Amino acid sequence: MKFAKEVKPNKKIIEKLAEECANIYTDFVFKDIFKILDEKPVPLQNKKLVNAIQDELDEDVYDNYVQIIREALYSGKIYYRDGNIFPRAGDKFGLKISKAIKILLKGKYNPKKKSYKIDLRKINATLRADIATIYDKIKDKVDRIQAVLQTKETEEVPTFNTEKVNKAFDDFYDDLQKKTSQSLKLDINQYSEENKERIREEFIETNRYYVVKFDNSRLPKIRENLTKLILEENMSIDEFYKYIKYEFGLSKRRCQFIARQETRLIKAEFVQKKATENGMDEYIWETAHDERVRSWHRHLDGKKFRFSDPPIIDPRTKRRGNPAQFYNCRCVPKIIVSWD
Ligand SMILES: [Zn+2]
Repeated sequence: MKFAKEVKPNKKIIEKLAEECANIYTDFVFKDIFKILDEKPVPLQNKKLVNAIQDELDEDVYDNYVQIIREALYSGKIYYRDGNIFPRAGDKFGLKISKAIKILLKGKYNPKKKSYKIDLRKINATLRADIATIYDKIKDKVDRIQAVLQTKETEEVPTFNTEKVNKAFDDFYDDLQKKTSQSLKLDINQYSEENKERIREEFIETNRYYVVKFDNSRLPKIRENLTKLILEENMSIDEFYKYIKYEFGLSKRRCQFIARQETRLIKAEFVQKKATENGMDEYIWETAHDERVRSWHRHLDGKKFRFSDPPIIDPRTKRRGNPAQFYNCRCVPKIIVSWD
């Protein structure tokens, strides 16, 4: 028995296509949000409102310390509670921050509590106001992020029919055509442009369908989680940044997964069509041979089937299909080209 060489599209090309698809969605949701998060911390104000502490220090040194403390408060590296300044949970005070707290806030280190004790009444009024302002600014950012998310929930996910996606798809399709021809020893001239356009349209539509489905369920969840974060204590912009980055990564991976899954299906159907058109209907089912293979497909492994008469791929629904025609199925057909 002779088998056709397995059609293995170029992974880099598929990743590029998946990346371009993911970019459309992540740009749509996260671009405006990162813009808000990336705004610089509030600049120094009220320079004139300096008190006694400043008299002991050069103006530059004073400004520098104020800036260090404000940035540390703003980013959540330190926070104030009950007369003490604490480092963020699990963190230690940096050298610069420690110095600024000691000099500017007259902080006394308590090794037991691992915090600096300070007297709020003795703190520079500007800085005291800053602590409040910084908190308000963070709150303001989060409110604006919530507003962006709410808008995105009502807006439609943009089309995937963009120049970049089309270019990436072309590369994928050309590669698939080439590999299939090599594998089945076919003439590349017998492929039609019409067929390509139909497959492209289908890819773009199906891809968008699953992304929209993800979008509809995830965006309300993000807003809900942000609200929870606001209600928690020690709100810091760093925590929001971390959370948004997490959501960004989640969306990106999801979109890439969807695109990859679609290319796998396109490949399976393309190869099957070309094989059957050219009289190659029989194949041996082959799994990926690892622990992720579903038990039912393990049971199909090594058995002979026909594309025109496929086995049951889902024992629950009794649905029939060929390799890869099932959610996240990585099985492939070993196409029989001759019996000698
Ligand atoms: Zn499978």
